[in-house]
This record gives sequence, C-alpha cells and structure tokens, in this order.
Amino acid sequence: MRVPDLHGFRDAITALCGADPGLRAGARVRPYVVVPNRAAARQLERCLASRVGADPGVGPEIVTRDELYDRLHARLENPPRRLNALEREVIAQRTARDAAKGAELAFRLRPGLVAEMLRFYDQLRRQSQHVPRFEELITDALGGDGDLDRGAERLRQQTRFLARAFREYERRVRESGACDEHLLRDRLVAEPSADPVQRVIVTVADWIADADGLYVADFDVLARMPGLESLDIVATEAILGSGFHERLHNWLPGIEEVSAADVARPCNGRDRGPERPALQVPPGAESDEPWWTLRDREEELVSIARQIKADRRCADAAPLDRTAIVFKHPLPYLYLAAETLPAARIPYRTFDALPLAAEPIAAALDLVLEAVSASFGREPLVALLRSPHFVFRRDDHAITRESVSALDRALSDRRYLGDPNRLEQIAASWREGRPDRLRQGYGGPPKPSAKVEGLRYENRDDAATAAVQAAVALARELAPLAESAPASQQVTRLLAFWDGHLRPLDDADPLSAREQRGRAAIRQTLSAMASVHAAHDDPDWIIDDLALAVRRAVEEQTFEPESSAAGVHLVDDRAARYGDFDDVAIVGVVETDWPERPRRNIFYPPALLKALGWPSERERRAAADAHFLDLLAGARRRTLISTFTLDEDALVSRSTQLDEIPRARLSVVARPAVAGARVFVDEALSLEPPALSALDADARIWADLRLSRSAAEQPQFHGSLPKATAELAEAAEPNVSQRALRALRLPFSVSALETYLDCPFKFFAQHLLELDDEPDDEEVMDPRHQGQFVHAVFEQFFTAWQTAGHRAITSENLDLARALFTDVVDRALDALPEAEGGLERTRLLGSPAAAGLGEAVFRMEAERPVAVVERLLEHRLEGVFTIATAAGPRAIALKGKADRLDLLEDGTCRLIDYKLGWPPDKSRALQLPIYSVCAEQRLANHRGREWTIGEAMYLAFKGPRRVVPLFSKADQRAKVLTDAQQRLADTIDSIARGEFPPTPDDVWRCETCTFASVCRKDYVGDV
Ligand code: SF4
Repeated sequence: MRVPDLHGFRDAITALCGADPGLRAGARVRPYVVVPNRAAARQLERCLASRVGADPGVGPEIVTRDELYDRLHARLENPPRRLNALEREVIAQRTARDAAKGAELAFRLRPGLVAEMLRFYDQLRRQSQHVPRFEELITDALGGDGDLDRGAERLRQQTRFLARAFREYERRVRESGACDEHLLRDRLVAEPSADPVQRVIVTVADWIADADGLYVADFDVLARMPGLESLDIVATEAILGSGFHERLHNWLPGIEEVSAADVARPCNGRDRGPERPALQVPPGAESDEPWWTLRDREEELVSIARQIKADRRCADAAPLDRTAIVFKHPLPYLYLAAETLPAARIPYRTFDALPLAAEPIAAALDLVLEAVSASFGREPLVALLRSPHFVFRRDDHAITRESVSALDRALSDRRYLGDPNRLEQIAASWREGRPDRLRQGYGGPPKPSAKVEGLRYENRDDAATAAVQAAVALARELAPLAESAPASQQVTRLLAFWDGHLRPLDDADPLSAREQRGRAAIRQTLSAMASVHAAHDDPDWIIDDLALAVRRAVEEQTFEPESSAAGVHLVDDRAARYGDFDDVAIVGVVETDWPERPRRNIFYPPALLKALGWPSERERRAAADAHFLDLLAGARRRTLISTFTLDEDALVSRSTQLDEIPRARLSVVARPAVAGARVFVDEALSLEPPALSALDADARIWADLRLSRSAAEQPQFHGSLPKATAELAEAAEPNVSQRALRALRLPFSVSALETYLDCPFKFFAQHLLELDDEPDDEEVMDPRHQGQFVHAVFEQFFTAWQTAGHRAITSENLDLARALFTDVVDRALDALPEAEGGLERTRLLGSPAAAGLGEAVFRMEAERPVAVVERLLEHRLEGVFTIATAAGPRAIALKGKADRLDLLEDGTCRLIDYKLGWPPDKSRALQLPIYSVCAEQRLANHRGREWTIGEAMYLAFKGPRRVVPLFSKADQRAKVLTDAQQRLADTIDSIARGEFPPTPDDVWRCETCTFASVCRKDYVGDV
C-alpha cells in the first residue's frame, strides 16, 4: 500500500486494522501488525485506540520483528525449544574455540569478537545466504590463488575459519534439539500450523531502509508460510522511491499495489487539518538555516520547555499529549529530560527502554566484581562495604557506615594495598578494644604518641572492628572467584553472594519497585548464565573472564522505566511515525546521530560485502533521507528542528540531513522571541525577588527557611568564627566537638600554628572541624609516612652512635658513621616492600650519581669545628614559655618537638630540622625560630650552665642546598627570633578572634590542598 506521507501512513494502518474482516468475524488468531520497536508499538496502540477505539486485547496484535517470530513459533504443532540470545552466544563461543584449533588467525578470539561473528552469521542467513555459498562467494571475490597477496590470503584463512565455525554452530544447534531464528524459518515454511495466522500487516521497510526492518528471509517466509492469506505492506512514497519499491518487486514478484486512497479514510471524528505542518524557525533566522542551533542537548530541551511555556501564556499551546520531542537515540535525552522538564513543571512520557547497565543496582554488581579484580584493595573493598544495596553483618548486626569509615582510615594507616591474606593478618592483629595502634603498616617507627593522636587511633580501631571482620568474611566468600573454576560454578558463586547480601527493601520507599525489578533482572541474567554455561560450554574462568562475561550480559539487557501516564511524548524517530501529534520538535540533528551510522562489519571491506548482497551506502543514505523528509511533515500543526554544537566537551557539526529541509516544502513561520519569563524552578528561586509560588509545600517550607537566614555577605560565611576561643566556643558553637575545644586550649602546637600561616582556613578545617585528609593508596609511602620513616632512621642511628660511645662526627670517624648508618638503614628497610625499600635506600645512602641524605647530615657535622657533647633527639618542648612581643613579654603555653638539638662544647647549641621537601620560607617559618627560643629557656641550667642557640638550620632534602641556615650571621639572629615571636603572638591573636579566611600564603597551595572540597576558595584568587 502506497501512502503519500506519515498522515496517510497512520490512516492506512488504521483503515487496515479497523476494517479487518477477521476481527469482525471474531477470528481466533488476531492479525499481526509489524512495527520497528516496542515504543512504536505503544504509539500505534494509542493511535488506534483514539481513532477506532481498538481494544488492545481484541484488535490486531502489534509486534516487533522478534516478537513476530515468537508468535509464529508458538503456533507450531510441536514447537522445538527456542534458543535465547545468551544460549546462542555461549554455543557460538564454544564453536569458535573449536574452529580456531589449528587455524592460523590474525586476531585473538575474544568474547566480543565471537559476538560479532554471530551477528555476521545472522546477517548472512537473514539475507538468505547459506554458509557454503558465503564461502564460495568470498573465495571467488578474492580471486584466483593470489599466492603473492598476503592480505588476500589472510582473508581466505579468515573465511575458512568463519565457515568452519558457522557450520559447527549449526551442527550444535541441530543436535541440541532446539532452534534458532534460522531453523525456525525452515520449520515455519515446512510445517502447516493447526491454527495459522491469516493476516500480517508490515509497517516497516527492509533492513536497508530501516535498522529494525525485515530481511529478505523474513519477506520470503511470510510469502511462503502455509495458512497466511494476506500480507499487507504499508510504505510512504518517499521510502518506496528510495529503492524499497524496486527491492520489494524483486523479492515478491507480482505483488499487488494499491494506493492509500483506495482503503484509507480520514480518521474518525478528527479533522485532519492542514496536510503539512509549518516549520517553526528562530526569530530572524536566515532562509538557508531554518533550524535552531543550541549549545548542547540540555539547552535544546530547555529551549523547548521555554517555548511550551510561552505558547501556554498566549493560549497557543498544543495539548501536551499531542506534543512530541523526537530524537534519533533515546540516550542521553531520557536522562536529561528527567532533569529539565520536571524543573519547568512539564510532565512527560517515555516509551523507550533504558540500559539495565545504567541502573544503580547494576553499579552494585560492578562493585562486587571490582573488589575481586582489585584483590580487595582498600578503595574497592570499602566501596563494596559502603554500598547501600548490600548489607554485611557481624554477630547478626549490620555493620554501620561509621565502622566502615573507620576501617577505611585504619587500612590506610596500615598501608593496606589489597590481598585477602594480608587482610586476614591485619584482622588477626586487631584485638578488640586493644588495637594495634602504635605500629605502622611498614613496621617502621611508632606513631607519634601525642595524646590526641593516640586517642584518635584508639577510637578508630575500636569503631572499625566490626567492619574488619565483615571485610574478612566478604573476602573469604569472594576470593574463590579469582581462582580458575568452571564458568557455571563461578557465576553460581557470584549469584549466591548476590542473594545473600542484598539489603531488604522497604516497600514504603518510592524507589523500591524499580530497585526490585532491577535486582530481579540481574538475578535472572546471572541465573541464565550459570545454567546456559553448565548446559553448553563450561570453560575455566578467573575473575577477569567472569567480570567480562557478566558485564557484557548486563549491557545487553534493557530496562523499562516507569513513565507517567500523560505529558509530552519523548520518542525516537521510528516510533514517532506512528504517533498522531500536533507539534513535533526534532532534536539532536548532528552528524553523529543523523543519519544513523550502519554498524561496521569488522571482517570484510565493503567491496567484498557487496558480493554477499550487502547494501551500498548510497542505498542506505537515500532511505535515511526519505525517513527524515517524512518525519519533517509528520506533525499536524508545527515542526521544529534543532541541532547543537557541543556534545559533552567535544565540538560536533550539524547533520548534512538538514540540507534536505527545503525538499519537504513546508511553510516557514518565525517564532516570536520568548519573553524573559521564569520557566524553571531554579529561575524562580535565583532571580530577584524569589517567586516561591512555583514550589510545592515541602520545598516552600525549606525555601522560606533559606530566605530567612543571614545574608551571604556576613563574615561567618567568609572564614570568620566570632567566638573561636575554647571558652567562648563552648557556649557559642555547640557543634564544635570537645576535641576541637581541646585543640584550641593551651598549649598551642607550633606546627599547627605554622599551618595557620600556610592558610588559616586549612587550620580551621584540620584543627577545629577535625577533618581528615582523604587517604590515598600509593605503592610507595606518602610524604607524611616518609617523613616519619626518615626521622626514625636518623633517631635510631644517633642513638646507636651515642650508645657505642661516639660523640661528634668528624672527618676521622666519618667512615665509621657511614658504616653504622648503612647498617641501621638496612635493618629499617627490612620492613618495607622490596621496590619501596630500594627507593628509600637510594634516598638515604645515595647512588653513584648523587650523595644520600645520610652523607649530607654527616658532612654538615664533620665540617663544623666545635665538638658535640650531647645530642637531644626528637626532643619535646612543652610548657609555658616567655615570648617577646612589641607589647611586652607574654607567657604562652606551647608544645612541639625539635628533630635534633646538638649541645656543643662551647656552650652553644645547634638546632636541626629535617625537611624531606623544600625548606619553608624563612620570613613565615615558625617552628625552627620558636623552638630556638623555647630550647634556650628549657635548657637553662642543663648540665649546670646556660645554653644559647648558636646555629639553627634546615637539613632540606629538596632544593639547591642541603644545609639552609635560619640566620647566617650572628647579628641577624635577634631580628629573626624577634620577628618569629611577634608572628607567633599575632597568629594566636587571630585565632582567638576567630579569623579563618581561606587566604593561603600562595594560591598554588590550593592545587594540592586536601581540604579544597570543603573550602570556599573562590575568592582567594584565580588558581
Ligand atoms: S583550598 Fe586553598 S584556600 Fe582552601 S583551605 Fe586549602 S589552601 Fe586554603
């Protein structure tokens, strides 16, 4: 049946269905109407219901191509079991492996490649080619012996391999007693059904004109199937003219052609209105650009929402149920619509299925696979334990998120990088209530035993006890997936874990139904995989094979989301042909989407495929343009077309199909500019004055609360905490924890005060909010652990040196010092992993290319003439000290730890601060000068005499110089120490005033700052 356009197309289908004599006579077998996809079926059902009042349970059955085969299969007398897609693929994997034995292949046989092989086989068979003929045609096309042409020889080998695999596949399918689509076709033609379908109405074109169309073999089976009395094919003039007409006559010679006017009548009770819609163009659009160009897909939907609202304001809007947004591919429009249209209070309906892989529950399955693949590394393990989809128990109690967070930190502190055995070891040393808190994972020096630090670790390990036990149990349960075992066993194991740990759903939760369906879909997929592999092919799998197969199986599944029952229709271009709409907006007309790109054949170039009857690109393009032209004129009132320029972050070009628009010969109407009205909820809230009437009751309560709060300019939003001192904070800030109060109380930690000078907000985040750095898993130690390790090594060396009776390091005993240092270093390195040990050895002992840290330390001492009488290592300085300020001396309680304090024979001392990185800016430094002041005060009367700081230095392991003095001349000493004391007093005063602005001393500090995510650093400068 030849119809002029999509209006005629819908009328013709309506007429064919409504006038069906079988229906009127109450035939037992309903006729089938074949449509391209499920969304199209739902559009057609709706269209028929509105026009002829067809009852979906009585009228014609609307089916896709696959569903047509299902129905025909069910009508056979003794139908053989039908293989599903997974079974076919598993059989194909087996046959491909068998066929590859002994064959020279230019490619590796991966699961994805076998899936392509099966797709190619299906395509061949659907084009009525058989395997021997395929082999013959390709061999002929490659021509002669071609001994000298290595490329041709490779293709010949590949063809032999494919033919062998396809034959083997056919044999196995026959032996299984079941059937696939191709065997089914043979049965349908050979065996008359006791209850045959008498009529089929085909409303799709062939696979050349339509990716979801019928194939030669389908038309052939419909033409020859016993009992089928009538086969109607409905197509528009444009599609027939693109080549479909000629192909149809070749496949179905003698087919009778009728025009729509012979059967179709305008639909019941509805005025068809003008035959062609008007094309809506932007205000002031050029005549050669009658489309809208937006920034991206989201902006397209935003623009359409604005237009719908503008039409409503001037009473010119089509009913939402008769408005459609049409795209080529549902994604990402379906996701974007969920964010844009509800925000404009425009309801919408969807008809396309979404990928199951995009459901949150599929991500939960991925967490399980990832945890095993990563050998239960800290991050994937914690992500699995934290997943809200699962529940993990210890002693019948679900472990809490707090416990998992504590485990996360504790594993990071122990430098756990994965491995279930190591996890077991850690758990074994985790004595409940008496955590192994003072040893680092690398067996290095004790953790600083500061009271606060000690308390923190004790609590963390206690909190983590439940989670560590759950983690061990989880790892034991899943670890076998990493070992080689038959595929069916591996999938069954995964399924057991899935069933055993899914969190029970709360029926009151609005997302519960969707989650339930997602879980059921995944369960069904895993269960099918296990049984299909057990039945057809059960190779040994390790986790990589399992993860690949499971992910592929989930990616193949789709998932129909719940859609509202009314609103704007979001449909793909194939379904849009069946919808009766007043206004249609065609979106996303970019080169990557329109026309749809055919799937590339990975086995043969187009020239060889032509020999197998593959269509040419010209034929496909002609059909795609014909569909586009039909779609342009498919609405009753108005059509709008839009393209965009940015897809994610990539520039894209408009589709060349836009050049076809003039061929549609639509009248052009420029839209008036849309007035700047508020359309979206965010606009209602963000434009002054806020309009709360757009909000629902709950949101309105919240918005009222937000509007009544203090202004954003208030100092507390800019790093100011008016009552920050401990005594005041307690009353004013009940949320500031007890520990934060302790941190504000005396004594002040000098290193913390230096953090304040780096950036006051960083100090606030670290010491008042008590935020922890985000742990980072590294193969080697992070700078903090590295610093602790190096300090410990030097402490151990100098302790050993002094215990052995040595004092100063001089040029005479330098070799002795080197030997002892090497010994200490080697012992310390024993606790490190081999690779890391190598790195640290080079850093400490040096290499032929550069001296190590030890050498720098020893040379510094050996080059100085005055001998050391005592060495104070990791020397604590704590108590009340007198700090000289411009306003007079102040007694301030401080605490700190000097890395090394050498007391010299002449009554002076040398203060040393090891720096693994660069030395700090001396004009800003606090630790070294303040420790100098404190040390002089604490050492008064030590060994019965006074001590003065003669030298203070950084031993820096980065930068141009190893030894960096705090002051190089004696007359600088007083100024440096005076300035530092004033800086200290000023810093304490700023803290007491509650000033914590995010003002780093250098904006580049923000690049690596671990508190960046909680910091309003937007006004510290352009970083
Ligand atoms: S991100 Fe920058 S401004 Fe913010 S706390 Fe860190 S260093 Fe300071």
